[in-house]
Amino acid sequence: VSLRHTGIRLALEGLALVKAPRLLPAGRGSAGMVLTLHHVRPDLPGAFAPNAGLSVTPGFLDALLLRLSAIGKRFVTLSRIVDNLQAGRAAPEEIAITLDDGYRNNAVHALPVFRRHRAPFTVFVCSGFSDRTAPLWWEALERIIAARDSISGAGGPSLPTRTVEEKAAAFAAWRRYLTEEVEEERVAETIVTLARASGFDIEALTPSLVMDWDEVRALAADPLASIGAHTDGHQALARLSPEMALAAMVQGADRIEEELGERPRLLAFPYGYPSACGPREAALAAEAGFRAAFTTRPGAVGADAQPHLLPRISVNGLYQDLRLQEVLVSPGLWHAAEGLRRAKAGLSAGRAAPSTR
Ligand SMILES: [Zn+2]
Repeated sequence: VSLRHTGIRLALEGLALVKAPRLLPAGRGSAGMVLTLHHVRPDLPGAFAPNAGLSVTPGFLDALLLRLSAIGKRFVTLSRIVDNLQAGRAAPEEIAITLDDGYRNNAVHALPVFRRHRAPFTVFVCSGFSDRTAPLWWEALERIIAARDSISGAGGPSLPTRTVEEKAAAFAAWRRYLTEEVEEERVAETIVTLARASGFDIEALTPSLVMDWDEVRALAADPLASIGAHTDGHQALARLSPEMALAAMVQGADRIEEELGERPRLLAFPYGYPSACGPREAALAAEAGFRAAFTTRPGAVGADAQPHLLPRISVNGLYQDLRLQEVLVSPGLWHAAEGLRRAKAGLSAGRAAPSTR
């Protein structure tokens, strides 16, 4: 856990201790709030776990939903939040739950928790993951580094990866290389090249983690489940040409419609942080026909929110502490600008690292 995370954690703990959610304005006018999850699985992270922020345990999810109910929150569908926004209806107590990427553990470990709480949820499916055509570079990179004493190849940095510290530094350097230096349209082939040079079976990775279409269909049949779009190639759209970004959104929706028989109306931008999606992508999402699109910028859905650039609050595996999550889902927090801006900036900074996706 980095110093930055520790800092954010301390800031949030401070807020929790002073009962910030109760002291702050109730977020009047908010159309509700949207939570983001990725993996839900019982495994606890080891010493080298650069993607730990993306994973919460079913037990924590269960406790979080229980807590949210206890403080008067109500679980609603994601489209209900969009309805609220469009109708100008204030519903600060309403919360929608979303899960990005289409991981199998969503059906195995999260669904039973959602059923217990009768909580609707939306899974944002990346069609290229379910089609097995797009690699999960951050998952591959973690495994390549975890099991080896060094990393090199694919034009990236050659680094030792013997100790936990070296592994963490190598992951950060490679993440920077892949997300900032390599052209976005070449990220997939770059991680495949690295995997081959490292003797890592990247073709087997996506099927081991992500639902295939049969599994997505089975999940979609659950009355609590909705399926949203998450593009075809899971690329940072802002780093693509407008034509390619639009095509990625349309193709992702096309594939879901072909496989499920229904076109998704809602989109989550891959990564969701400002360097991956902004006003240009919002306009393209509208052009692609989506009713609304979601980022991972934290906040409640304000009455004046832009429908194609809506905020969501990440349920971060690094903060599996109910008091902290209670602060995060307090609409008042995000409406009280001064003093809390630092915590918010810290979270946005955290979001800028692809470890939160
Ligand atoms: Zn994603």
